[in-house]
Amino acid sequence: MRSKLYLSRIPPQYRFAHRFTFYLHDYLADVVIHGEGSEIFDYEFDGRGLALDEIDRDDPLNWLLANGFEKEAGEIALRQCFVALLSDSCHHIYESLVNMEKSKFNVALTLLRKPIKDNLFYFEWFLAEPGELLSRFLSQEVKTYDVSRMEPADKKRILDKAQALCGSTEYLAQDQLYGFRYDRKSSFGLSRFCDQAIHLVTNNANYETERQNFNMIFRGSEIPSWKFDLVYSTLPLILMHTVDVVQALLSRITQVKEEEAAFHALRRSVGFALFAYSVSEDAMVASSNPESGRLCLEEDPEVSCDNCGNHLLSSVRSALYFFYHGVLRCTKCCSSRYFADRPPFGYCELADSELTEFLDEL
Ligand SMILES: [Zn+2]
Repeated sequence: MRSKLYLSRIPPQYRFAHRFTFYLHDYLADVVIHGEGSEIFDYEFDGRGLALDEIDRDDPLNWLLANGFEKEAGEIALRQCFVALLSDSCHHIYESLVNMEKSKFNVALTLLRKPIKDNLFYFEWFLAEPGELLSRFLSQEVKTYDVSRMEPADKKRILDKAQALCGSTEYLAQDQLYGFRYDRKSSFGLSRFCDQAIHLVTNNANYETERQNFNMIFRGSEIPSWKFDLVYSTLPLILMHTVDVVQALLSRITQVKEEEAAFHALRRSVGFALFAYSVSEDAMVASSNPESGRLCLEEDPEVSCDNCGNHLLSSVRSALYFFYHGVLRCTKCCSSRYFADRPPFGYCELADSELTEFLDEL
């Protein structure tokens, strides 16, 4: 668990957004750690009568391709690319968020560029058109699967397909997903700012460096609020979408436990509702009277109290308690409902005393 001190440089209205973003990162990192531990990225096949020592261990993929094992080569490449891209993505996102906590804004944006523009795109491509990407990756020149050479229309097609398959259109419009990551003209997107953070001088017509200036290095003592607005109005949504894409890919290579998936889905929904609430004006009201906070979660019989029928996630306090402890607690009759396979919480876990204190951040 990270101390609240780490958040002192992030404006109060964005602290929950930051925690929620970190939680989404932690979920992705868990996929790598637990996935590797349970060997879900390994692929086994019987070899169709071939002795194992016939395989060229220095170059197994090309050996498989040359010996009629195209399907197996694809399955292995998909799993190995998936876990390597995800691990790399998590390393960058983690460091980016830590740099946000330290007010090293340009470093944070520099580190975000690759996971949101490149790594995520390959997850989307693997989900939307796996055969096409694997064919290019295994048998064609590198430039054929280079995302930086891809036309905007092709990128949009793949993003649209991936969103349709993972269901993220529920909270993220198609043009937003592209605009946040690739549209250099977009004033609400990260693309131009990531580019400006990396390059001291930019020539792009949409964000040409001004005379007698370098990009984004001269600043006063405080980071302007629009920079926080920019990151926390886009990044949580992009990472929600990343989780959905990663989950959709996971379900293609392994059996996901139903109870565990239901718990994670509910926790993410609750976290997302809290995030939306925390950056809204309603949060200002709640900070003076936390119990008055009401969350816009859909009425769902699954989260009603078994004992008295009370809706268990209608108040900000009960939703926060579930988000941080994984326990549904009824404020009316005081009974609690636990999930059987509740995973450890890591970064996001808060002690009871901190939870009350934390309400002030909303
Ligand atoms: Zn109850």
